[in-house]
Parts: sequence; structure tokens; C-alpha cells
Amino acid sequence: MSGCGCDDLKENKLTPFDEAIDTLLDSASPLTDIDEVPTEDGLGRVLAHPLVSTVNVPPLDNSAMDGYAVASVDVDVAGTTLPVSQRICAGEVGEPLQAGTAARIFTGAPVPPNADAIVMQEMCDRQDDDVTINEVVKAGQHVRKAGEDIANGDAILNPGTRLRAQELGLAASIGCSPLSVYRRLKVGLFFTGDELVEPGNELKPGQIYDSNRYSLLGLLQTLGCEVVDLGIVSDDLESTKQALQSAAGQADLVITSGGVSVGEEDHVRIALEQLGKLNMWRIAMKPGKPLAFGHVGDTPFIGLPGNPVSAFVTFCLFVSPFIKKMQGMTRVLPASLQIKSAFDWPRPGKRLEFLRARLSQDGSGNTQAELFGHQGSGVLTSTSWADGLVIVPIGATVSPGDSVEYLSFTELL
Ligand code: AMP
Ligand code: MG
Repeated sequence: MSGCGCDDLKENKLTPFDEAIDTLLDSASPLTDIDEVPTEDGLGRVLAHPLVSTVNVPPLDNSAMDGYAVASVDVDVAGTTLPVSQRICAGEVGEPLQAGTAARIFTGAPVPPNADAIVMQEMCDRQDDDVTINEVVKAGQHVRKAGEDIANGDAILNPGTRLRAQELGLAASIGCSPLSVYRRLKVGLFFTGDELVEPGNELKPGQIYDSNRYSLLGLLQTLGCEVVDLGIVSDDLESTKQALQSAAGQADLVITSGGVSVGEEDHVRIALEQLGKLNMWRIAMKPGKPLAFGHVGDTPFIGLPGNPVSAFVTFCLFVSPFIKKMQGMTRVLPASLQIKSAFDWPRPGKRLEFLRARLSQDGSGNTQAELFGHQGSGVLTSTSWADGLVIVPIGATVSPGDSVEYLSFTELL
């Protein structure tokens, strides 16, 4: 057991946002255990090995159109008539094309040997066993070449990639199943506050609904985590210590909300000081100033503020990259965009501001960022209205038309 690294608190100093991110990410250890999952179950998982193709995609030259396969040398003027010597459907393989003939062919069917072009049927007139071709044909037209998407031996996906629908399709296109992915990250979760009540129950005076449980569960599910949900823990030291130990014993990472300020009802901080190792930060950011980071045994712990917007935003900014790194992902930090501001932010702040914003179009059709009208850290409506966050640097002001940095929730998760 060691004490609290709470220098920030003692000195009443604010930790810069980037310093907090760097410190956090430095101590996130990637999982090494690997699961083999059927490709259809791979959505959201993180690839553990490179995916190398052992086939060409497409496997053979094939027709991109319904029409006629010809040798381009046989059709050097529009209006050439050729006998139709065979018919090739998708799934079949034709005979070599006899010189001076055409093959009826359908989309996806292999182009027969000796043919080097496809004429779409809209450019043809068919009469019984003959076809008249109403264009000059160029070699290679409407032919999808073998290996034009993926060549045998190509590395198509790198380890550390989170699998979206398109990566599953890509893996399947080279015939790959099962996939090697890192095992699911197990996250222990609890919520402190004697005022909290689960939805579905009546509120007594002084109580509020535990909204953080639902936003944090949703965020963890979006990131593909397995959740050990310990629910609401009352504001006393013993219960908090028990919950911390239980969560740490079952999970790879423990996340909590509430109880990390310096009030005497904020027991998470003290429980962690007694059980393990703690860094308490007052981060120079808004919303979300207090953030706790530490370990119970070997299990990392991140304590989020209780205010619903602060919990949501600090999860997106700190917990999400931490989780991505533990999951084995290689790209863990979000990419931001520069967007034109549609708003006025006249008062320079002492902390980095993460404003709930959404994109719209101005009168000329250019993309702009609009702000939700109430930026309070308890106004959860702002997170649902928004589709991302605008970052306003310390000491900066923003006028309409200025360029601002924008992080979409999709990038953050
Ligand atoms: P705390 O960080 O515990 O001081 O809580 C800060 C504010 O967030 C208080 O107004 C709490 O009532 C509120 N709060 C704490 N936890 C939750 C929660 N799980 N759901 C909704 N609000 C919460
Ligand atoms: Mg509390």
C-alpha cells in the first residue's frame, strides 16, 4: 500500500490535459490473450495477427456487365455482327472463345480464354444466333481483372485494427474464418452516491436517477467490453473499499463515477489510497475537472466525476483511448477536424473547454459547428443533441467564422 500522489490537490494546481492523457496511456498494458472467433462474430473485436491473403480477389478475370464477351480485334468497327458461340453464367467456366464469335455472358461470370473485352448488352442487337455490336470495342473494357482488389500474398489488415462491418466483409472476401482477435476486455463498473436510484423506481425527495450507469454501460458496450456491473455503492468507506476490491478481482480495469472530489462524502479517493495507489488530478479541462487514476493490486482504476456530462466527456477523452490501448488497438487517439464556428464564445477560460457541438450547413452549404445552448456539466441533454465536441484552448475566444477543432463522438469511441 502506498499513499496518494495527490500533489495537484495539495498545491491546488491544475494538470494540463495532454499531460494527463500521456500519463494514463503510458500505464495502459495491452492484453495478450487471443480468441479465435468465427468471422460473423468478429464485429468490434481487435485483430491480433496480420491478415494475409492466400487468394486473388477476384479469383479470375470476370465480367462487370451483362452482355457479350469478345476478342477486341474482332470488333474494330461499330456494327460488326458475330455469331454467339456459347453462354456463360456466374458460377460457370466457359470454353475458350472461338475466333470471330461472341459469348453471351452475365455479371460475375469468368471471361473465357481468348476474349479480352465485354460489350454491355445495351450496346448490342441480338438476332437469333447472332449479335450486332454497336460500338468500337477497346481491349479490357468492363473486365474485372483477377487480383484487382486483393492479390495473393497481400497483407490486407494489420494487427491492432478494430473490426467494423467492412473489415469483416474484407476478411470473408479472402475466405478467412475464424479470426484471431484479442480477448474481450473485462471492465468492472460501479457508481457512488446515496442519492442514486435505478430507473423504474419512484424518486423520493433528494434522490436522482442513476443516469451514469446507462451512459457508461452503453459506452463500454460500444467499445466491445465485457462489463462486470456492480451497480450503486453507498457513500461509505467500507462499501466503497469492498466494491473496489471485488471489481478489481474480477476485471482488467475498474471504472467508477462520483466520489472523487474532495468532499468528506467522496470515499473513492480515500478507499483507493488505503487499498492501492492513487493519483488525484484536477485537470485543466471543463467539464470534468476531478479525475482519479490508480491501481488496486495490478488492476488499473479510473474514477470519473459524478456529474453526468463530465462522466460522459471524460470517458470519451480518457477512458476510451485507455481501453483501446488495453484492447490491443494501435490507433487509440481520435483525429480531429478543423470546422468553421457558427457560434460566439467571448469569454476566455482558464481550462481547456470541451463544448457539446454538432455539425450543420451554413447558407452557402459549408459545414459549420453549432453549440448546444446550455453547456452545464449536469445538462445531459447536450450530449444527446451533440454529435461531437469542440475544443476551445485555454485563454482563447471564438467568433463566428473562426476555425475550431472538432472531435466527433464516432472518432472518440
Ligand atoms: P460527485 O462527483 O459524487 O460529487 O457527484 C457530482 C454530481 O453528480 C452530484 O450532483 C451527483 O448527484 C451527480 N451524480 C453522481 N453520480 C451520478 C450518477 N450515477 N448519475 C447521475 N448523476 C450523478
Ligand atoms: Mg457523490
